Formats: sequence, C-alpha cells, structure tokens
Amino acid sequence: MSEFSIIYKNFQHATPHHPHTILGIGDDCAISQMTSHHQLVSCVDVLVAGRHFPINTSPYAIGFKSVAVNLSDLSAMGAKPYAILLGLSLPTHYVHDEWLSAFTQGIQHICQQFNVELIGGDTTKSDILTISVTALGWVPQGQAILRSGAKVGDIICVSGEIGSASFALQQILQQQSSTLQSALDLPQPQVRLGQQLRHYAHSMIDISDGLAQDLGHILTASGVGAKFFLEQIPAHHILQQLPKQERWQHQLNGGDDYQLLFTMPIEKFYEFNQQHPNLIYPIGEIVADKGLQLFDEGKPIDFKIQGWQHF
Ligand code: ADP
Ligand code: MG
Repeated sequence: MSEFSIIYKNFQHATPHHPHTILGIGDDCAISQMTSHHQLVSCVDVLVAGRHFPINTSPYAIGFKSVAVNLSDLSAMGAKPYAILLGLSLPTHYVHDEWLSAFTQGIQHICQQFNVELIGGDTTKSDILTISVTALGWVPQGQAILRSGAKVGDIICVSGEIGSASFALQQILQQQSSTLQSALDLPQPQVRLGQQLRHYAHSMIDISDGLAQDLGHILTASGVGAKFFLEQIPAHHILQQLPKQERWQHQLNGGDDYQLLFTMPIEKFYEFNQQHPNLIYPIGEIVADKGLQLFDEGKPIDFKIQGWQHF
C-alpha cells in the first residue's frame, strides 16, 4: 500500500456519515442523492502554506481552517453544508504520523461540529503544502442569498467581532504570542446564522479579504453605495484599546474574519432581532451614492481602503 493510500484510508471514516451519501471515499467518485426541491451550492478554496497561513501554523489548525473557510462561503449563500472533498498537495516531510493525525483531527473536529462528511479527495506530492477543499451544500429552491440583492435603505450588519484575526496575524508575524490566535487559526463559520438569514437578508458575503473590500463586492454587484458608522463595528476589547487608526486598519482592511456581512430592510432587521436576539450588529446603511462613506461618532472620516491583494 502506498503512503498516499494509507493517508486516504485514514480519512475514510474520519467524519460523520451523511444520509445523502450513497458512496463515499474508496471509488473513483462519490455519489450523493439529490432532492428535487433543493439546489446544490458548491465552492472551493485553495490555501497555500506561507501565503494563506503562516508556515508554522499547527497542522490541527491548518486542517480545521481549510474546512472552516469553505463552510463560511456556503453560509454566506444561506446554504446548509453537506460534504467536502479534500485536495492535498504535500511535501514529503509532512508525510508522517504526527503531522497527518493532527491535520486529520482538525478536519474531523470541524466536520463533526457541522455534520459534514468528507466524501473524497486527491493526494499528491509537491514542494509547497497546498490544501484545496471543495465544499457542497444545499439551499431550498431559489432561496440562496446573493451579493447582488442590496437595496437603497437596507441596514448593513455583521455577525460578530471584526479585526481580531488581522491583529493576531500582525502579532504572530512580529514573533509575539497572541491571545487572539484562535481567531486566526480556528475561525468559526457562521453556519447556523447563514441559514437563519434566509427570508431576511437581501444580500450577503463572508468577510475573508477585509470588511471594506468585501462590502465593495456587494456594492458593485448591487449597483449601490454605503455608509459605515465605525464606532458601531464590534471589536474585541483588546482592539478597542488600540488607537482608532490602528483598530480601523484591522477592522476595515484586515482579513480572515469569516464573519458574515449582509444587508436587510429595516423592518426585517427589527423582526430578526425579535426572533433571534443578540446575533447581528448594524454597522451602516446602503445608499444610492456610489462608494463607501465612513463616519466616526457622526463625523466624516478619510481612511485608505485596501484589502487583501490576491496578486
Ligand atoms: P484515483 O486514482 O481515482 O484518483 P485515488 O487513489 O487518488 O484514486 O483515491 C482513491 C480514493 O481515495 C478516492 O475515493 C478518493 O476520493 C479518496 N481520496 C484520495 N485522497 C484523498 C484525500 N486527500 N481526502 C479524501 N479522500 C481522498
Ligand atoms: Mg487521485
């Protein structure tokens, strides 16, 4: 048995079996049972060591995060996650029990948390550790929440604290330890909230490249503009103690938050809060004037917006 066969044997029963799965790991492809009134929602994210996570990130966190970022994408559509496929490119020095079992455990834990099954993948040798997870989920017919639905007058909300991961990354890159490291390493995708927002949100995205840049995707897709009220953006108390310019830098331009960013009409905002108190935080509004206007305590603010650059 080759090294790689041993690896995927490891994965074979690592995650919960899902009733949609007719055939999982072991054959050329997996087979899943579709239902007639749901639509398949799918996405893929590639994580390259040293680029998408620091090279010394723990194998557990690498496994966990590779899945988490994809479940976050599914959540941003309002979809319910179902399964993942794992493309693994490994340098030979990672192919040993200690690394592989911690990596598998990270994948296992997040899959168990959200009842997601690993149904297949591919494993190759390469010079740089690269993990590509494909995630599959379901949404009731026609109910996915797109980036393009924002309307003038909508309230803009986020699902939680913004900027913690970016602050942690800065500390780690400066060789300091960070009390916010888990925000960077073990992001919690907003799986439940994403589905709860169906019938409420007009538009939605998950925040991976920076709050301002990701809002920009909603604005462009919807043909609208926005106002942000900076003092309303939820921040961990460690960030609240930073000078404002520094906090805004992490909150607006940092990345890796994996919180949801969405817009909804004001009536829906009140209705949602009544049904599900304390889950969503209003931070701005959609306006007709294109572009993003920033305010702090009512005063207009000039701040350079610059999110994660892919190239
Ligand atoms: P093939 O030659 O058809 O690509 P493989 O030997 O690569 O077959 O894979 C055999 C089985 O193991 C397949 O069902 C595949 O989905 C699964 N598999 C391979 N690598 C992984 C992985 N990294 N994670 C999960 N399943 C994997
Ligand atoms: Mg293969």
